[in-house]
This record gives sequence, structure tokens and C-alpha cells, in this order.
Amino acid sequence: MITFENVSKIYDNGYGALKGVSFHIAKGEFVFLVGSSAAGKSTIIKLMMKEESATGGSIFINDIDVNALRHREIPYFRRTLGVVFQDFRLLPNKNVQENVAYAMEIVGASNKEIRKNVPLVLSQVGLSAKAKMYPHQLSGGEQQRVAIARAIVNNPVVLIADEPTGNLDPETAHEIMAIMEEINKRGTTVVMATHAENIVNDMKKRVIVVERGIITRDENEGGYGYVQSN
Ligand code: ADP
Repeated sequence: MITFENVSKIYDNGYGALKGVSFHIAKGEFVFLVGSSAAGKSTIIKLMMKEESATGGSIFINDIDVNALRHREIPYFRRTLGVVFQDFRLLPNKNVQENVAYAMEIVGASNKEIRKNVPLVLSQVGLSAKAKMYPHQLSGGEQQRVAIARAIVNNPVVLIADEPTGNLDPETAHEIMAIMEEINKRGTTVVMATHAENIVNDMKKRVIVVERGIITRDENEGGYGYVQSN
């Protein structure tokens, strides 16, 4: 499903952010990517999304050779991924159901499909009653649920989340994690970069630790397991 083979990333300024990173994530796994700030977690995620290109090594996602993607193929490739960020990134002038519908409109879904699928995913994230509300009328946790609904509405092969609970209080963060776990149980592969030690320890999922651009640990049912430096 997702394979990184000896991947390196040197940014334009010469900084080596990843040095020979290798891992394989099978379909249906739930994986935490942890490590202190500046370890290289976001770089791994940007490479998965082809927001940045690897300097060396190979990356395969769902049998697609990400390094070999042509510029014009990238938008189509990205449609196979669902992505959630720390800062939600909702469209402020669209209400909840319009935010989710928009993700379907841009991939050319029919009105019929949109009318069917949007309520389904909103119910999956527990937001059916707030479909007509605007982002500024929602709590942070609710906004993140909208972002998750939007990320899964086109049935992505993988749900990628970069610090999705970073702006949320612990209780709300746990509610978000319960939703992510439910999505994973329905078959979607989940990769989540996080600093949230409690969450990682509670969930007992696979943990890949990255430190200074190197994978230092990769354990099934792992814990956070080290003291943060910041
Ligand atoms: P994390 O997500 O673990 O906090 P990042 O992947 O964002 O880490 O960053 C890893 C390292 O790469 C950091 O030292 C960061 O400063 C550097 N870095 C990230 N993006 C760029 C960039 N566009 N140009 C130069 N260096 C970068």
C-alpha cells in the first residue's frame, strides 16, 4: 500500500531532512508517525502527497510510483488520498455540507452521488445536526470532524493526518481519535503524524519513530516511548 525505500530528502537550501527512510505500510493498517519537532514527519507526509519530491530512493502508494508522477498526473493522484491538517483548512464561506460537497464537486461527482454521500459521511463523524452551520459557528473539534468528513467522502485509499489533534483539548482529541479508529475499522489505511504522547500510548497501534531524518524505531502496538526534547 505505502512503501518508502531508502528515501532521502535534501531541501533546496541543502538541508538533509530525510536520510535513508524505509518502511512499508499494509492496507488497513493504522500507523502513528512520531518524533520531536523538526524530525522529518511533515516531510514524509509531503512526500506522500507529492507536495515535495524525494531526492533519492523510491516511494510507492497504491502501486503508483510517486517519484515518476508527471506534473499533470499529480491532481489525479492526490484524489486517491484523504488529508487532514492541524488547522482544519475549511472554506469559511461554505457551510458544513457545502464544504464536504465541494470535495466531491471538484472530482466531478454527480449531484445524485453528492446528495447520497455527504449526509452519510456527516453522520459517520456525528455532525448530521450541524450540516447547515458555518465553520466559525463550530468548535475546533467539530471543525476537525468536518475536515475528516471531507477527507473520506471520496473513499481515499489512505487517510493522512498531520497533527490532527494539535489544536484540540485532550477530551476533544480523544473523540477525534475514536472517529479515526472507526474509519480505519471500515478498511481505510490511516497514517497520522503526531506529538500527542497520550494518544499514541492509549491507542496501541503501530508506531514509527523518526528522529533527525532517520527511522529509529518501528513497533507494532508501540508507545510513544521517549522523552520529548521540546
Ligand atoms: P516535523 O514535521 O517532524 O516537525 P519537518 O519535516 O517539518 O519536521 O522538518 C524537518 C526538517 O526539515 C526541519 O529541520 C525543517 O526546518 C526542515 N525543512 C522543512 N521544510 C523545509 C524547506 N522547505 N526548506 C528547507 N528546510 C526545510
